[in-house]
Amino acid sequence: MKKIIVILAVIFSYQASAQINFNDFFLSKTLRFDYTRAGNSDTSFVYFEQLKEEPYWGGSEVNLIDKFNFGDYRIMLYDSTGNKLIYSRGYSTLFREWIETEEAVKLSRSYYESVVMPFPKNKAILKLQNRNRKNVFHTVFEYTINPKDYFIVKDKTDKYSIEKIYGSGKPETSLDIVVLPEGYTLQEMSKFKKDVARFITYFFKVPPFKENKNKVNFWMVNAPSEESGTDIPGNGIWKNTVLNTHFYTFKSERYLTTRDVKQIRDLAAYAPYDQIYILVNSKKYGGGGIYNYYNLCISDHQDSEQVFTHEFGHAFAALADEYHYGVDNADEMYNMNVEPWQVNITNLVDFESKWKNMVDKNTPIPTPDTKEYKNKLGAFEGAGYVEKRMYRPMHDCKMRSNQVNEFCPVCLKAVTEMLEFYTK
Ligand SMILES: [Zn+2]
Repeated sequence: MKKIIVILAVIFSYQASAQINFNDFFLSKTLRFDYTRAGNSDTSFVYFEQLKEEPYWGGSEVNLIDKFNFGDYRIMLYDSTGNKLIYSRGYSTLFREWIETEEAVKLSRSYYESVVMPFPKNKAILKLQNRNRKNVFHTVFEYTINPKDYFIVKDKTDKYSIEKIYGSGKPETSLDIVVLPEGYTLQEMSKFKKDVARFITYFFKVPPFKENKNKVNFWMVNAPSEESGTDIPGNGIWKNTVLNTHFYTFKSERYLTTRDVKQIRDLAAYAPYDQIYILVNSKKYGGGGIYNYYNLCISDHQDSEQVFTHEFGHAFAALADEYHYGVDNADEMYNMNVEPWQVNITNLVDFESKWKNMVDKNTPIPTPDTKEYKNKLGAFEGAGYVEKRMYRPMHDCKMRSNQVNEFCPVCLKAVTEMLEFYTK
């Protein structure tokens, strides 16, 4: 019975997506929905902040319904009747990571969050959804959008200059990456441009981007910072910068993030975009990437090249880290009775739903991490920060270490499918 329901649901969602004509429901610009998510490790709430109209829509006008089922959260946008799904997107946030920390057991705190959608022509119903412990989405917040509401913020985007530094495709059929400068002073804006050009060459060294150069656009917004560099709280270093990034996120020295999501979105709005990349003017090792939220990479470390595409694997295709910290804490990190939703890790509860069909029949599962299987696809123990009972597709991959500059076949497939989704 369960299977029949699943099949019907798949057919229904396919029909729903097949019937949506962009121009029937949307104008080619962005509606941004900002809110605060607050709470702790037990519970969380969503509080409305603002709606904002932004000048461009960079996403696909064909693939409006998310088919991937990735992310900790999801937005669902319905037409005015509430029956027809017209746009959806999965995503994750820094708050979702924070609730796994020790601090979240004792303290409640709030994070600013933001989601974007094409600008609806008529009234529409927005639902924000969370996953439960069984990884099933449920609605936690609902808001009726009136596109004629005069409280929709319409701030100008003319303070900074914008440059399309690479690509010639139309935004709706291209993967558009907007690069934001962090910790580059006015005098360093020419360095920013050189750095972006260098990172574009890094990007196109890695498959599948290597073979799809004509499907990608890079934009840069010239927003200088007062001071050079970024915050390093553990070393007592604080800089006045445009995006307020910092190392030592959750006390992890190399974890580079920012909580200033409002400012990020305000700067990204200068370009049509699918992904936001923050390039941080620093020599110190670090980075971060959260699915459909943002990417961060440092400009001048010897491993910057590897970090750049690794973080993009997180933010673009929701890939999990394939490394572990040598700790056997799977039950703390995951519900080990269901598959984690990330495509490139498995606890073997339902390996068929992951990459089992890509594995050679003669390869044992779990796969011994020996010379014999070094370049073979299998299920290798140690992944998703967990040493035991969580498995990764290959001995090594871009999502595991900086030693290889390629995605393993499972990650490559996910990134390739996402690229196709955005460029249709
Ligand atoms: Zn991989």
